[in-house]
Amino acid sequence: MKLDATDLRYVSADEFRVLSAVEIGSKNHEVVPTSLIAELSGIRGGNVNKALGELAKRNLVGRVQNIKYDGYRLTYGGLDYLALRTFSRRKLPSIHSVGTRVGVGKESDIMIVADESGEKRILKMHRLGRISFRAIKSKRDYLGKRRSASWMYMSRLSAQKEFAFMKALYEHDFPVPVPIDQARHCVVMSLIDGYPLRAIEQCEDPADLYSKLMELIVRLAHAGLIHGDFNEFNIMITRKTGEPIVIDFPQMVSTRHENAEYFFNRDVNCIRRFFRRRFRYESLAWPTWKDVLEGEEGEDLPTVNEDAEGEDPDQEEEESSAESSTTAQKRLRIDLEVEASGFGRALQRELEDYMLEVQDLPPSDDEDEETEEDDEDDDEDQEAEEGVHDDPAEAPKDEPFDETAFQEQMAARLEA
Ligand code: ADP
Ligand code: MG
Repeated sequence: MKLDATDLRYVSADEFRVLSAVEIGSKNHEVVPTSLIAELSGIRGGNVNKALGELAKRNLVGRVQNIKYDGYRLTYGGLDYLALRTFSRRKLPSIHSVGTRVGVGKESDIMIVADESGEKRILKMHRLGRISFRAIKSKRDYLGKRRSASWMYMSRLSAQKEFAFMKALYEHDFPVPVPIDQARHCVVMSLIDGYPLRAIEQCEDPADLYSKLMELIVRLAHAGLIHGDFNEFNIMITRKTGEPIVIDFPQMVSTRHENAEYFFNRDVNCIRRFFRRRFRYESLAWPTWKDVLEGEEGEDLPTVNEDAEGEDPDQEEEESSAESSTTAQKRLRIDLEVEASGFGRALQRELEDYMLEVQDLPPSDDEDEETEEDDEDDDEDQEAEEGVHDDPAEAPKDEPFDETAFQEQMAARLEA
């Protein structure tokens, strides 16, 4: 997959409209019929086919020949393109250029990107569809109506969740990357100058790092959160100070979760095991779930509504200090904050159900840009051939237009 920000310029206005139409159409078609693409994009005849041909050449869409009809579907590359375009067109572009890929996770690609001043950042592209949805479908059709767009939908949920938690954690001074931007299946965050704990062979003071990490697990739990994947891959050690920074949040759960104790212990044990094996360090002390519960005794748990009101902080402080003689101080509950901020429990449940179902499934056989693609028929008329620009410098500049409004219009047309 080519992922070069300069590439962003080589898509003409027509091609962009057509690509957006394929994305919108994907919301309820597994394969978007060419006629629907034409209708949604408002571009007629040969020009639609020409644009689709160009997009397919660059792997932004894939042609699919169906028993019932021919059409196209958006590829990972197409979705990446749309997200990058969004980032690069913000008033203050969160991404200006795209560099090298630094990591390929089971369900993500990690790229180094830069803003206009050249400052490096991390772009995390969530890719939940790497696991075959066919395998899931056979078990349960929980994606229902959205099934056709499942990989896009689930990848977006995952990115939204990660961003929501990273933001809340950052605001409460937890050691996490700076959350910068989020769109579609992508999150932009600060680059941590360091190494994953996994890559650290020798540690000067393992006892110190161990207790910092355990304190972090407990501090998270006291704020209502369990990381859920707190291991040597998801802890970065900064180069300059050796301080740990936590990354990777799509599987984070609330301490109210029915399996909270299990996830908490699993996180604690990951660290214990790693320190034993890597640094031959074993402590007699480690946090238990009971410690977390004891810390909470006698405390009033705030409700979601209380949190959502966005009270004046000064006033709140006054109130709590006034009350402190009678009731315990209000405890920080980041899990409730995130729920109230828009990434609610229903969405979290949806993502979690998916994650539970796929964790033991084999990787997808319909990987990446796989399409039953045929060479584009050369049945386009002469007219359409005119204006093909092999040299990108010759290509017409994108005319400025309101993308959001345009996409809303298309979505409305689709509903109608
Ligand atoms: P996954 O969900 O695929 O595990 P992660 O968020 O854990 O994705 O990122 C995978 C790898 O990418 C990390 O182990 C780390 O090496 C690198 N990485 C991710 N985020 C950052 C960041 N903000 N700064 C530096 N490296 C990062
Ligand atoms: Mg990870």
